[in-house]
Amino acid sequence: MSFKNLNLIEPIQRALVTEGYTIPTPIQEQAIPIVLQGQDLIGCAQTGTGKTAAFAIPILQILHEKRKLRNEPSRIKALIVTPTRELAIQIGESFSSYGRHTGLTHTVVFGGVSQYQQTLALKRGVDILIATPGRLLDLVNQKFINLRQIDIFVLDEADRMLDMGFIHDVKRIIAIIPKERQTLFFSATMPPAITKLASSILTDPARVEV
Ligand code: AMP
Repeated sequence: MSFKNLNLIEPIQRALVTEGYTIPTPIQEQAIPIVLQGQDLIGCAQTGTGKTAAFAIPILQILHEKRKLRNEPSRIKALIVTPTRELAIQIGESFSSYGRHTGLTHTVVFGGVSQYQQTLALKRGVDILIATPGRLLDLVNQKFINLRQIDIFVLDEADRMLDMGFIHDVKRIIAIIPKERQTLFFSATMPPAITKLASSILTDPARVEV
C-alpha cells in the first residue's frame, strides 16, 4: 500500500513527497477513503499512529475540491477541537505541511495567551480552525468566530477531553454547529461515557481501530 493508491489530489501528493511519506500508516490507510467518501468515522487510535494526517489529508482534499467548484471566500468549513494547546499547535503544523500547495488557510486558537493575535487571523478569514474548547467558546461568544457553516467537525482525543472536564464545553460546541455535517471522532480508549458521547454526535459511523 502506498499513498499513490489513495486517490489523493496532486497538491497533497506533492506535499507528502516533501514530507518524505511514502507508506500510509494503518489508520491512514483505513480512514482516508472513508473520510473522502463523506462518511462519519470513529477512530480508535493513540497519538503516534499518524491519526492527525488520517483526518487532515482528506479534509484538505474535500475542501480543495469544493473550492474549485464554488470559488467562494474563506469561511470556517472545518473545525478541529482538541484538548490541549500542544496538540492544537501540532495539528496546525500538520495542516501547514500537508496543505502547503492547496491554497487553503487555517489558524489555531487556544487559551492561556492573549486572544489578540488569534482574532487578527480570524478576521482575515480561514477555511480550517483548530481550537481548544474554552478559547473556542470565548471567541464564539465574542462573535469573532461563526460556526454555523461548518461542513466537517473533528473531535480529537475525546477520552482526554472528558478526563479534563471539557464535556460541557463539547456539548455547547455541538449545539452551535450545524446538525448536517460530517463528524470524525478520535479517542485512544472507548469507555462507556465515550461510546455514549460518540453515538450522540455521529451518524452511521464507520469504525476504525488500530
Ligand atoms: P500523529 O499520531 O498524528 O501525532 O503522528 C505521529 C508522527 O508520525 C508525526 O510526527 C507525523 O509526522 C508522522 N507520520 C504520520 N504519518 C506518517 C507516514 N505515513 N509516514 C511517515 N511518518 C508519518
